[in-house]
Amino acid sequence: MKTVTLKKSRDFSVIRRHPWIFSGAIAHIDGEPESGESVRVVSQDGDDLGKGAYSPESQIRVRMWSFDSGVEVDEDFIFSRVASSVGARAYFLAEGDTNAFRLINSEADGLPGVIADKYGDWVVCQFTSAGAERWKSVIVDALQRLSGCSGVYERSDVDVRVREGLPEVTGLLAGDEPPEQIEINEGDCRYMVNVREGHKTGFYLDQRDNRAIIKTYANNADVLNAFSYTGGFGIAAVTARAATVTHVDLSESALELAKSNTALNTCEMENSSFIKGDVFEVLRKFRDQARSFDVIVLDPPKFADSKGRLMKAARGYKDINLLGIKLLKPGGILATFSCSGLMTPDLFHKVVSDAAVDAGRDVQVLQRLQQACDHPEGLCFPEGLYLKGLLCRVI
Ligand code: SAH
Repeated sequence: MKTVTLKKSRDFSVIRRHPWIFSGAIAHIDGEPESGESVRVVSQDGDDLGKGAYSPESQIRVRMWSFDSGVEVDEDFIFSRVASSVGARAYFLAEGDTNAFRLINSEADGLPGVIADKYGDWVVCQFTSAGAERWKSVIVDALQRLSGCSGVYERSDVDVRVREGLPEVTGLLAGDEPPEQIEINEGDCRYMVNVREGHKTGFYLDQRDNRAIIKTYANNADVLNAFSYTGGFGIAAVTARAATVTHVDLSESALELAKSNTALNTCEMENSSFIKGDVFEVLRKFRDQARSFDVIVLDPPKFADSKGRLMKAARGYKDINLLGIKLLKPGGILATFSCSGLMTPDLFHKVVSDAAVDAGRDVQVLQRLQQACDHPEGLCFPEGLYLKGLLCRVI
């Protein structure tokens, strides 16, 4: 087997069970591994550290499959990883409270670069690393057998593939084509999901628990759902008898789906409004009009995708949080999020507290929020915690 030898003192993170080996940590490679080929990883002293998948074009040159050098990375190994991952979601399968959840969450499930989300009878996948790509057919076959789905659809149209030297691809991988839209439910909430064109694999499943939290504050409330996408939080609020829900998003098509998702859940359409616009501008306009809300959700897209952009992103987060805090009635609830992996929970906390200081309001943190448990974070892989939020009461 081809072997990757690490530089002296660069084996520390692998010993700490971190699954990424950067190109700069590698002393030499015996042989020329192909894209996605399994390699043995050894320390400078010749200690076996495990097996990983080789990515010749990526800065992340190896992603570890296992820290046990005795394992054979073969079809049985990959199948058993998928089985363990799907098995860990047995609760969701059995509970029936929702029919949409994540089956495989990449590194945290021992399958770096593999995302698989279940939407009703379909599974939608992303393969974002060379190792994942190499084992694609085995993974798809395992998913089909283990989840009992009607079809597996691929949404590998993500730019990280380019860094792996892989083309962006979408399309049916197995079974039947998914319908134009798939209906999912979360408790008593129903949503239509477009798995071919929607964000990520179609829907923000990672916000499920946080949508449920918003429901507990929604009764009779005026709710602002900023960066609404297809309605997620706002529709949860509608089903929990919000007085009014105002969705704001730049995307016409997302708002169209938010509208039909609202209609799917209530006949009182007049209580929901859908504003196409830039949240930064709309919130300023609301401030000038002295509008106020009982509950505000701020769930923006990733503002920072590189370290260089982090400070600019922090200013963006501070701006919207400042405006959001100002728009809340006394005792109002702010659920504010960042899905930028580079924005650490501490930095996010600092940004929101700076916004509170500038707004001149006292703010309590009621709960620290994160991605739902079907999106686990590997304990030795902090990069896996990308979604963080604060549930606040603004006094
Ligand atoms: N809260 C949503 C997910 C938000 S994704 C949910 O739970 O489903 C981010 C959304 O922000 C996208 O729909 C995108 O169209 C929108 N967006 C990005 N920049 C924006 C801006 N400046 N103003 C308004 N919407 C914006």
